[in-house]
Amino acid sequence: MKAIRIKEFGGPEAMSYEDIDAPSYEASDVLVKMEASGVNYIDTYQRTGLYPVELPYTLGLEGAGIVEQVGEQVTQFSIGDRVAFCGIPGSYAEYAKIPEDRLVPLPDEVTAKEGAALMLQGMTVHYLTQSTYPLKQGDRCLIHAAAGGVGLLLIQIAKLMGAYVIGTVSTEEKAALAKEAGADDIILYTQADFEKEVAQLTDGKGVNVVYDSVGKTTFEQSINCLSPLGYMVLFGNASGPVTEFNPADLAQKGSLFLTRPSLFHYIADQESLRKRSQQVFQWVKEKNLKVRLEHLFSLADVQEAHRSLEGRKTTGKVLLIH
Ligand code: NDP
Repeated sequence: MKAIRIKEFGGPEAMSYEDIDAPSYEASDVLVKMEASGVNYIDTYQRTGLYPVELPYTLGLEGAGIVEQVGEQVTQFSIGDRVAFCGIPGSYAEYAKIPEDRLVPLPDEVTAKEGAALMLQGMTVHYLTQSTYPLKQGDRCLIHAAAGGVGLLLIQIAKLMGAYVIGTVSTEEKAALAKEAGADDIILYTQADFEKEVAQLTDGKGVNVVYDSVGKTTFEQSINCLSPLGYMVLFGNASGPVTEFNPADLAQKGSLFLTRPSLFHYIADQESLRKRSQQVFQWVKEKNLKVRLEHLFSLADVQEAHRSLEGRKTTGKVLLIH
């Protein structure tokens, strides 16, 4: 089968489009014929070695497709079922081998593209807004990279929860998309000082929570945007990792909370995986959540997909279509 592999860490050129053997599946595994594979920022961290993986490595942590084969102990899925998954490596390929308990059924109302787009980023939005800092009516929140894959989904759910949402983006085009998704106010953080703008927009009160996936270039100022007892939710490193921080600042700046969460701990058991994915699909069915699917690439064009994502050229979800 065709697959995208890395044999050493590096830039997009480190990824090669290769013929490899289809994965051999165990008794409790399901072999999925991929229809769409999600491209996520974490794939770039694995590719560069920021998050080390064992090499050679087949990239891709998310996808949707059709059950092709089932192991003899599999009871919850049958050949032909529509399914989706995330968190298991190897989705940049024609087939993926997924343990039965890490797979979820795709409802009829959710397409394979939507499924592949929602598993990782949709469930991230679910845990960020429902568990890490459960948003409530009237909360004020700041969302960086608001027109990105996670960003556009996060705005919609923050609005659904009744929060006032400020989004940051780098261009006017992205500002328009974040507005369309429901953001109340937008800051072009590449042109304006977002810390000052947030203070102005909130009459000096600050926000209750910052969802910061940009990291290095925003972290320090994000902390300064918080109200006392506010939550700094640092969940990504699109501009590079945050490496220096003095915990005493949290006290001095208002007894703040700092967390650095990862989706995979919030879906560690099958029950949370099922519950979170079902809720995300329910939001789609109720039309409370829409996915922007503009950036679609073939598997062979994966290098271009990564370059676009890292070059800040994409909005919404990036997918590889089989
Ligand atoms: P995005 O579509 O959001 O793309 C990244 C965006 O970050 C860019 O479009 C850009 O938006 C912004 N950005 C700011 N500075 C930079 C920079 N120096 N280089 C590149 N981009 C920059 O990606 P995803 O939706 O896939 O992921 C968003 C973030 O969420 C990532 O950091 C990812 O790691 C994190 N994440 C974390 C999870 C967790 O559980 N911890 C789970 C899922 C995602 P703009 O041009 O508007 O600034």
